[in-house]
Amino acid sequence: EKLGLNEIRKKFLDFYGTKEHYTRGSFSLIPHNDKSLLIINSGMAPLKPFFSGLETPPAPRMATCQKCIRTDDIENVGLTARHGTFFEMLGSFSFGDYFKEESITWGWEFITEVMKMPEDKLWATVFLDDDEAFDIWKNKIGMPEEKIVRLGKDDNFWEIGTGPCGPCSEIYFDRGEEYGCGSPDCKPGCDCDRYIEFWNHVFTQFSKQDDGSYENLAHPNIDTGMGLERMACIMQGVDSIFDVDTIRMVLEEVCKIAGVEYADGAKPTDVSVRIITDHVRSATFMIGDTIMPSNEGRGYVLRRLIRRAVRHGRKLGIEGKFLSEVADKVIESSKEGYPELEEQRVFIKKIIQQEEDRFSKTLNQGLAIINEYMDEMEKSGETVLSGEKAFKLHDTYGFPLEITEEILAERGYTADRDDFDIYMTRQKELGKSDAAKSDEAWKESEIDYLFDGETLFTGYEKAEDEGNVVS
Ligand code: ATP
Ligand code: MG
Ligand code: MG
Ligand code: MG
Repeated sequence: EKLGLNEIRKKFLDFYGTKEHYTRGSFSLIPHNDKSLLIINSGMAPLKPFFSGLETPPAPRMATCQKCIRTDDIENVGLTARHGTFFEMLGSFSFGDYFKEESITWGWEFITEVMKMPEDKLWATVFLDDDEAFDIWKNKIGMPEEKIVRLGKDDNFWEIGTGPCGPCSEIYFDRGEEYGCGSPDCKPGCDCDRYIEFWNHVFTQFSKQDDGSYENLAHPNIDTGMGLERMACIMQGVDSIFDVDTIRMVLEEVCKIAGVEYADGAKPTDVSVRIITDHVRSATFMIGDTIMPSNEGRGYVLRRLIRRAVRHGRKLGIEGKFLSEVADKVIESSKEGYPELEEQRVFIKKIIQQEEDRFSKTLNQGLAIINEYMDEMEKSGETVLSGEKAFKLHDTYGFPLEITEEILAERGYTADRDDFDIYMTRQKELGKSDAAKSDEAWKESEIDYLFDGETLFTGYEKAEDEGNVVS
């Protein structure tokens, strides 16, 4: 009997409950009072005011399971076994309470005694000069020295923007040579899928200032984050996060609709199947948190994800609308952890369908135009699409730049990003004064139209307020 994703979530929170942590489920994906961040991307992000001392935490120790979106991983999605734009992060936190020793010791207790992971498969990394963490792994845990890898700032120093930051210690699981890149230097930190990083312990002992300098925190903090899907992938002994019980259900629906067979990542169509699976998960949770498709901010992130999923559907040969059926599966497979998705089912599906509809109308034409462009490029020997043309695809056919770039890349071409940006900036300047007005228009005409005046959903006004913070 394999541990289900939902069971792992529960075991984690229960475990930290026994260590006197105040436990709770996820905060919204929309940051609260935080202009530095568009979308919540880690367990600690919604807790920043507690770390910085701006607000008093409900308890000195906390543990959560947080919904996260990371679009900076988008290029990995579908290609690696371990990245999604949406994932859940299990986290344990100490606000000036316990520090490195308890964090590592309890982490080890959880993975070896509760999860019963075999010790010989586990590795740790520490920041270059963090001898304190190295000694805890070596002397308290008894990990052989050669399995404690020292890594540099890129991997093992955590900071996002300004605020709390510090060295990290990551825990890896060795999935075996068959998952490896074959390099003799392959070890934790390698890009391949053999040593899979599943838990990051951040020792928040500094605060990064606006001028880039670091100050010591009077009371150092602990912020750990474990990818729930990655943990489930390891515990279930499956190839990738897409094979984890709850996600596999969604993936199979995509395969069914497309009429393709999934081959564990070995076939080119697998990548599209994974991308659709992931992006619909993101879209479902984003809309569930009242984010609406739009041309800026969070709404544009959502729009890009939905459109990219549509385009990959087309690539698989799906002609009709299909995303809301996939969303049904996301809701079904996630509602144990997120019962509110069930209540919002009608709303979520309507929004996805409407955005899919919008893009479907221009997609065929856009694809025809970009094919023409590429044929011209082939004749003339050019390899870079002009910003003007990329902008036309964006403006007239609703192609986000990354979709254009993705299609170009399939024939070995790129787009002139800088030139494209010039057109975008020009358009934004022209449209600026109308931005607020168009938001209002959306609210009145489309929400009413969607529900014929019925109130199905009450979180909308809140989203409008918070949405204004970032734009
Ligand atoms: P990686 O190096 O694999 O990209 P990371 O170091 O960027 O991961 P952290 O910022 O340390 O990730 O996040 C804490 C944990 O969250 C990771 O150890 C991992 O288990 C999980 N995680 C991070 N990014 C993703 C993602 N895109 N999809 C699924 N899980 C993720
Ligand atoms: Mg990463
Ligand atoms: Mg990493
Ligand atoms: Mg990490």
